[in-house]
Amino acid sequence: MSFTSLGLLKEITDVIHELGYVTPTPIQEAAIPAVLDKKDLMAGAQTGTGKTAAFALPLLHRIVQNQQSNETRHIKVLVLTPTRELAQQVHSSFIRYSQGLAVNSVVVYGGASINVQLDALKQGCEILVATPGRLLELVMKNLIDLSKVETLVLDEADRMLDMGFIIDIQRILKKLPYKRQTLFFSATFNDEIFALSKTLLKDPKLIEV
Ligand code: AMP
Repeated sequence: MSFTSLGLLKEITDVIHELGYVTPTPIQEAAIPAVLDKKDLMAGAQTGTGKTAAFALPLLHRIVQNQQSNETRHIKVLVLTPTRELAQQVHSSFIRYSQGLAVNSVVVYGGASINVQLDALKQGCEILVATPGRLLELVMKNLIDLSKVETLVLDEADRMLDMGFIIDIQRILKKLPYKRQTLFFSATFNDEIFALSKTLLKDPKLIEV
């Protein structure tokens, strides 16, 4: 199995081959075609399985494929993470995978200057990676527009619930279009996680690696 045979654009496979990735990991093999196909996903995956590329590569593909030369930048992909460290990691991955593409990623998280993050947002971006608390602050102050988000990714959903982010997440969800793709990643599954996933996902593809 190769990245090309999963249906990714040459612009994307060129970058990942340059990074030295030869073969997709199992979660990438299962997730990439489903994400390209705009399906919802419920994926059980630990860190280290290649889960970030499993959603980042097909989402970048869709952004590039649908890009119009005259369109203004707006947030199409929103990734929520439980911690600022994970937010920074996911953002760095998007930056690495989008080398040479006309796609911008911005990251926002608590405990850092909101003004610096607002300046970054003013440049415009297609991808926003965020921790729930800081994002909600920006949303409530009307400093960010999530009305055109096409895909929501919840990364490490179990940790987000453990850290008590459920109310923040539910408030953020109210600002997103109802008709969207939702990708749900969690290392573990319990009743609370299943309950949340049921309210978020439509006919999801289940992946366990
Ligand atoms: P993640 O599980 O997303 O944190 O990724 C774990 C590590 O695996 C990261 O350092 C990635 O750069 C790397 N990686 C992801 N996919 C591949 C692949 N298909 N081949 C080689 N390395 C990969």
